[in-house]
Amino acid sequence: MAAVIRPQAPTVDGQQALTVYLAQPRGFCAGVARAIDIVERALTTFGAPVYVFHEIVHNGHVVSDLATRGAVFVDTIAAIPEGAVTVFSAHGVSNAVVAEAKGRRLRVIDATCPLVTKVHLQAQRYARAGHAVVLIGHVGHEEVEGTVGSVDAPVHVIESVEDVARLPLSTDTEIAYVTQTTLSIDDTKDVIAALTARFPRVRGPGVDDICYATSNRQEAVRSIAKHVDVVLVVGARNSSNSNRLREVAAQTGALAYLITGEDEIEAQWVQGRRRIAVTAGASTPEALVRGVCRRLKALGAASIEQLPGVVENVAFKLPTFPGMRVPLASV
Ligand code: SF4
Repeated sequence: MAAVIRPQAPTVDGQQALTVYLAQPRGFCAGVARAIDIVERALTTFGAPVYVFHEIVHNGHVVSDLATRGAVFVDTIAAIPEGAVTVFSAHGVSNAVVAEAKGRRLRVIDATCPLVTKVHLQAQRYARAGHAVVLIGHVGHEEVEGTVGSVDAPVHVIESVEDVARLPLSTDTEIAYVTQTTLSIDDTKDVIAALTARFPRVRGPGVDDICYATSNRQEAVRSIAKHVDVVLVVGARNSSNSNRLREVAAQTGALAYLITGEDEIEAQWVQGRRRIAVTAGASTPEALVRGVCRRLKALGAASIEQLPGVVENVAFKLPTFPGMRVPLASV
């Protein structure tokens, strides 16, 4: 839905005042809400500590809040005591991590987002069918490491159009690609076009692996960014989808900043501006957006307007917990 901007912003003492526009949708997606819910329910059901492999979602506020309630975040399976209750993060894990967890007899609850699992299964099908598998994604991101490690065959990870030319494959190779779920839609289209040009026998889902939440948030911020001076994206520095939101906004010509919270807003970004848009990555709690609005009001914003946009009604089922007779407790 197109952003609706009033032609005449409110005035204060005859001066046009600053209006803040909140993009819709923004913030938590269904996969993030489910992953946090799983950790909370695990804490209620089993008590602390509950071990979580990697940040459950990429947001420091979410992680420290869960940590105060008894979640213990670790980056290696070896750091988890044998037999402990363990949650895999929303980004997914490799087969090697699953095997290591089994070897330590961990009681695993898998919070991998079902849309990431869908990509794992697709990549595995392509490999079984004999295709050379290419993953479009960011090297080193946990989701990419999990997807690569879920396939029992080599996976070529590429990030850019330039990387396509560097693939060590002949042009008649039957390749198939999948993508990270949180990429820029426009950039990914370019990479897919380059793949298709070099490998005529390529197969893949188009940009369909980019999840609904990423697509909706990018569309919403693109729509509003054209009409404002500044875009503030609330999200963690290591959040892929938050970084992409900032890039999409900047591509329209707006000044775009990624901030982890209200404390990072610099007064000079706001002074003399008439229109500022605010959005938030899929792992950002709405409380942080409220804090940003409070700070913008303190810096002179006369009004905060919620834009219309896609209303998301996606919800994912909770996972089963092996060996448990009762469902995870509600919280
Ligand atoms: Fe799932 Fe998309 Fe949310 Fe990632 S951003 S957790 S893939 S819904």
